[in-house]
Amino acid sequence: MSERVLEFEEALAEVLRHAATVAKPAPEREPVALKDALGRVLAEPVRTERDQPPFARSTRDGYAVRSGDISEGQPLRIMGMVRAGEMWRGSPISDCEAVEIMTGAPVPAGADAVLMVEHAEIGTNGLLRVLGGRTLQAGENVVPQGAEARAGAEVIPAGRRADAPEIAMAASCGRGSLNLFKRPVVEIVATGDELVELGTKPEPWQIYNSNSYALAAMAESEGAEANRQSTAPDVLDELRERLAAARDADLLLLSGGVSMGKYDLVERALAELHAEFFFTGAWIQPGKPIVFGRIAKRKPGAWTYFFGLPGNPVSTEVCFRLFVAPMLRALGGQTAIAPRFVEALLAEDVKGATRVTRFLPAVVEGDWKQVSVRVVPWQGSGDLAANARANGFVVLPSGEDRFAAGESVRVLLR
Ligand code: AMP
Ligand code: MG
Repeated sequence: MSERVLEFEEALAEVLRHAATVAKPAPEREPVALKDALGRVLAEPVRTERDQPPFARSTRDGYAVRSGDISEGQPLRIMGMVRAGEMWRGSPISDCEAVEIMTGAPVPAGADAVLMVEHAEIGTNGLLRVLGGRTLQAGENVVPQGAEARAGAEVIPAGRRADAPEIAMAASCGRGSLNLFKRPVVEIVATGDELVELGTKPEPWQIYNSNSYALAAMAESEGAEANRQSTAPDVLDELRERLAAARDADLLLLSGGVSMGKYDLVERALAELHAEFFFTGAWIQPGKPIVFGRIAKRKPGAWTYFFGLPGNPVSTEVCFRLFVAPMLRALGGQTAIAPRFVEALLAEDVKGATRVTRFLPAVVEGDWKQVSVRVVPWQGSGDLAANARANGFVVLPSGEDRFAAGESVRVLLR
């Protein structure tokens, strides 16, 4: 089996290229109650049945008026009041008339603007006077009917993940349920003779299988359904049987066994199942041994994509966030799938590496004016304690061996 180790950008491009192909045909769909839609993906656009707003809405407490009437020495007659939750039932506003109005209330017919309550006063004669020589433009403090969206318009496209803004928009359209894509099913197989499951007492030389939990957590937060399988031993025949049994998943995630050691047998097991490998490593640190490819499903002509993730837990997470998450989003029918980076200023000097792009556990901190990022001291890619102190990964591109405090860098947020 030939090795194919790609630069970070090339590896990501390769994943995105395959992700674009798995997005078609779109996954199956199912109706889901709006309250259960968080993190799921819209299978069809949300359209608004009514104009939004459904009536010309006042954005202020004040007086609905004809803007041309507003001038210093011109008193206006107050015809009544309208508040949110009702509509003005009197006759349309005409010259030198005003209706007291509350924020969110429909602007009465005839009025074209709202004078803010702060800019008006009521004289002893009961007439409204404008303060301080103010004037008013037509449309001021009014959102016209349909200005946000016209009845029938698409307000959320298909392929969008339902987060709070999408759920708010759907609710404002009266949608108690949405048609969503079915969740992709991810099979997770951790490999390694050193692993024990939670609930089993480890011998001093054994460790708990934490990667299966980490991968399930990340997959679920990407909207997938995750199946944590029992751990697989570093025994070629058994590994091959386990991978063959899992090959009908939407995505297969393997942890461990992809490095150069004598007992790193995952690639061999996959090769014996006639896997196609797209890359067998990426010039990143941590995570260099990552493997990406696909194996044939039982159903002819269909493929299951797999990632072989290095077993060290920080490598596992970095590889998930960089490569697995985009693939999962695509399998779930999302259109925005690429990892997103933010920019921050390095708080301290950091050592880079000439050959690999580094993704180091880091803390993004600071306030809204300045975002800085500080690398968390760590013992390497097995250091889950350091990882748990971080809230993201600072990106140090290859080719530079030193990044100075104050330099602007990219951060992959969790
Ligand atoms: P490997 O990629 O199989 O060489 O694993 C590298 C190291 O990662 C192992 O020596 C373990 O310390 C750790 N490791 C592997 N698999 C897991 C796992 N499922 N959970 C936690 N740590 C793991
Ligand atoms: Mg191993």
